[in-house]
Amino acid sequence: METTVLVVGGGATGAGVARDLAMRGVDVTLVERGRFAGGTSGRSHGLLHSGARYAVDDPEGAGDCLVENRILKRIAPHCIADTGGYFLRTADDDPDYFERKREACEEVGIETSSVDVEEARRHEPDLAEGVERVLEVPDAVVHPTRLTAANAADAREHGARLLPETEVRDVVRENDRVVGAVVDDGSNERRIDAEHVVNATGAWAGRLGSLAGVEIEMAPTSGVMVAVEFEGLDTVLNRARPAADGDIVVPHDGQVVLGTTSVDVEDPDEFSTDDAEIDRMFEECSTMLSGLDPDRIDRVYWGVRPLYTEDRERYEGRQISRGFYLLDHDARDGVIGLSTIVGGKLTTYRRMAEAVGDHVADRLGVEEPSRTVETPLVGHDDPDRIDEIVREFGASNPADEDVTDRP
Ligand SMILES: Cc1cc2nc3c(=O)[nH]c(=O)nc-3n(C[C@H](O)[C@H](O)[C@H](O)COP(=O)(O)OP(=O)(O)OC[C@H]3O[C@@H](n4cnc5c(N)ncnc54)[C@H](O)[C@@H]3O)c2cc1C
Repeated sequence: METTVLVVGGGATGAGVARDLAMRGVDVTLVERGRFAGGTSGRSHGLLHSGARYAVDDPEGAGDCLVENRILKRIAPHCIADTGGYFLRTADDDPDYFERKREACEEVGIETSSVDVEEARRHEPDLAEGVERVLEVPDAVVHPTRLTAANAADAREHGARLLPETEVRDVVRENDRVVGAVVDDGSNERRIDAEHVVNATGAWAGRLGSLAGVEIEMAPTSGVMVAVEFEGLDTVLNRARPAADGDIVVPHDGQVVLGTTSVDVEDPDEFSTDDAEIDRMFEECSTMLSGLDPDRIDRVYWGVRPLYTEDRERYEGRQISRGFYLLDHDARDGVIGLSTIVGGKLTTYRRMAEAVGDHVADRLGVEEPSRTVETPLVGHDDPDRIDEIVREFGASNPADEDVTDRP
């Protein structure tokens, strides 16, 4: 089989890259070893960041989140619950930090308003007793399985081939050029010839890189999420303090998802987990929300962040934006026809995909620009369609299975 671009990894980023390129008229094939969003995307917390969480320490990254938050609310309303968010200062938190957060949000351009605690409590009656200040921000909830499936289906509508449950076992090189990959769909191994291969395997990027003979040093960290049955929370809750464990509560209908932690892991497929992390989620999140009951846990899951740790100085100039890295293996390693995208967030997947699309289009001499900022994703105008697509792909992931698997 032949394709112009082979995208490896069917998380939000890879599906987004496939869509971006297919919309430019490029012949694309997307391969995913499991089901779509079965990696980190479907095991994330599902917060569509407004940028407020990063405003103090990383205003540039916060600005990226803000822009993407606004775009995704427009192009993917069927994958998002536009709940709004509260940053909460409890009696134990530094009052100066709350003010710094508010000022930093203002500088980035994030709309905030200070809400009187009693007024916030009228809206969210279960806010914990110790909450002293409330800052409203435009955070929202994103359902990653829907988002990834919508991108994959949209790529297909633009001519892309989708190959879920197909693993890349080897990357084929002829001298200094990558010319394709060997894939295995469980019953057959075959070769796919490609002019360009995009490594969008997230936390697994180092492994795919080694198949191609390039070194990509990843530093993945795991985080726990605990989905608990809970009625009546309609707003994302964030703790207004420097990032720590158990800072965020994400509301679903009839559930809340508590998270998260950050623990170094060696292997994104096999890492140890500690039940103490679960207890910590209840302890920390109870400072924001009262009535959380450990007997009402629906599911516990861990995800692995696709963090990249290569010497940043050495590749200065290739860090195209804070938080994610596009590695041009031609310029970096002398290997033609291979690019890697690592880091970033679910919130910024579209921007990452556009950056890869621009880069690959340039290499292929394609002049069509990206159109993903303004073009709504498939199913945006038909709420039933998206879960039909999710079902067609057999995609079910812990981040949003209570939403997508609903009869
Ligand atoms: C605990 C936690 C909480 C998070 N919460 C949030 C949040 O609330 N908001 C937010 O914006 N971001 C969040 N993130 C970050 C976000 O989830 C990730 O940055 C994003 O989902 C990564 O998407 P991706 O497509 O790059 O990677 P993935 O979704 O991991 O996709 C990579 C895919 O590649 C596939 N693959 C690997 N090797 C092969 C191979 N050889 N052949 C074929 N396929 C292969 C994998 O199966 C996987 O599906 C969180 C991350 C974690 C870990």
